[in-house]
Amino acid sequence: KLVSREFKNEPTTIPLGRVEVGSRDILVTAGPCAVESERGFMDIADKVASLGAGALRGGAFKPRTSPYSFRGLGEDGLAIMARAREKHGLPIITEVLEPEEVDLVAAYADVLQIGARNMQNFALLEKVGDTNRPVLLKRGLMSSLKELLLSAEYILARGNWQVMLCERGIRTFETETRNTLDLSAVPILKQYTHLPVVVDPSHAAGKRELVPSLAKAAVAAGADGILVEVHTSPDSALSDGRQSLTIDGFKSLMLDLKPVARAV
Ligand code: PEP
Ligand code: MN
Repeated sequence: KLVSREFKNEPTTIPLGRVEVGSRDILVTAGPCAVESERGFMDIADKVASLGAGALRGGAFKPRTSPYSFRGLGEDGLAIMARAREKHGLPIITEVLEPEEVDLVAAYADVLQIGARNMQNFALLEKVGDTNRPVLLKRGLMSSLKELLLSAEYILARGNWQVMLCERGIRTFETETRNTLDLSAVPILKQYTHLPVVVDPSHAAGKRELVPSLAKAAVAAGADGILVEVHTSPDSALSDGRQSLTIDGFKSLMLDLKPVARAV
């Protein structure tokens, strides 16, 4: 298989802004779950950029468990993120939900995120495989690592090799966390594949106070990057506020990550 180390042993690296993902660099992607307004997003982007984030995240098309929850600003949200990219020179990562929306999202975004709920949406995987945009492929809530790799294979088989795999927690019997972060995914994926591996501790933990420990552990385990949700006022966020770091929380995480990154 194209994703396997038997096929290609050298790590695949993906240039993204000032970071070469998959090399020694650690990509820190930060931003709110959803783009809620231009002012709100710009404010968060200004702060995480000044604290050293390597990429900005934000959702414009949101997959929500309830159809009555905030589902994002759509194209307006993409345009807001593109303006933040112009201002800070940082790449933007955002989710695409439908094959029909891939071209629209790719026109604004630097990285196309495939959400956990769409990991086996094969038509969507093939459509992003037809673009020249890097893809962040999230592990499904109930998917094995082999299934994650086979989903990545769909993208590579279409000619797009710029795929980052993302562990974001899986469903288990444990109720203390939103999902259980499967840290063993990092060394196991590294063993099987040349693709970069990113960890999202926010959607795993579901609680902001757990995020720094999991983020540090991910980097120590060999992850090529982390994806964290950050908000200027998480308690009034329209989605995932409980797990979003405050600006101060993100600031101390960035300080704490440095010695861990140096040690690996
Ligand atoms: C997100 O990144 O906001 C998101 C919806 O993630 P996941 O697909 O991992 O639940
Ligand atoms: Mn979220």
